[in-house]
Amino acid sequence: MAIRPVSGYERLKQLQKEQKEREEKKSTTYTNHFLRLGDGESVTLRFLYNLMTENHQHEMISIKMHDYWVEADRRFVQAVCAEEDGKQCHWCMIAKREVDKANDRPQRNKVEKDARYTAVKAAYQKAAKDHFILPCFVYGVDDEGKETATPHLLDVKWSVLPTLEKLFESGLASPNGKVHDITTTDFTYSRELQNGRTVYSLVPTGYAPRNLPRPPFERIMQMIMEDRPIRELDSTAGNASTPPAFAEEDDDEEHPF
Ligand SMILES: [Zn+2]
Repeated sequence: MAIRPVSGYERLKQLQKEQKEREEKKSTTYTNHFLRLGDGESVTLRFLYNLMTENHQHEMISIKMHDYWVEADRRFVQAVCAEEDGKQCHWCMIAKREVDKANDRPQRNKVEKDARYTAVKAAYQKAAKDHFILPCFVYGVDDEGKETATPHLLDVKWSVLPTLEKLFESGLASPNGKVHDITTTDFTYSRELQNGRTVYSLVPTGYAPRNLPRPPFERIMQMIMEDRPIRELDSTAGNASTPPAFAEEDDDEEHPF
């Protein structure tokens, strides 16, 4: 048997090329519409929808989602609740089963009562919860030092909702009085670790209207579903551990979403 020698150098180059191609494919295959910040990170962003509009076409969206970390599987469950689409929901079934199981735990003494309380609380974390979504542009700088604006969805945390609510209700100072439109200012959005707790903050930087494209409501809903696909009961589709393929065709050229 004759073994054909293989050029180690060429093989190394080939493997590196394949690795690069896989990474490039990965970065365009998986959706990543929702803005994620790590501790100590901060961005400047501009909301593209107001909290409320007359025709309800460009306003904050409220939608029920499942959003929790599963330590045993080392993964997130992040999914729009199928009941939002009038279907039976796989994740609601899981949550209900765990709540029932936790409620059935014995509570004959304090230790058992405490354990039961913790289990019930953990199980309720898995239930569908209200989430509030605002599309935004996140500002950045590209390799050549030019300002960029990248479209994202912000899943507005409960802790920063009052900031937006107050600004919308009381208004933002403008040369002609006050405007009740949160899209007329940039915000600094940050995530910090304070005394072991993650704290988000949202600070307006002052009235400065800009003419930015506003994506249609339908596209925003599509983006939410791409990132947080529903999983119906007894359905294998939309498994949270396998992100869905990126929707390649996007023939709507009017906006960069
Ligand atoms: Zn559900």
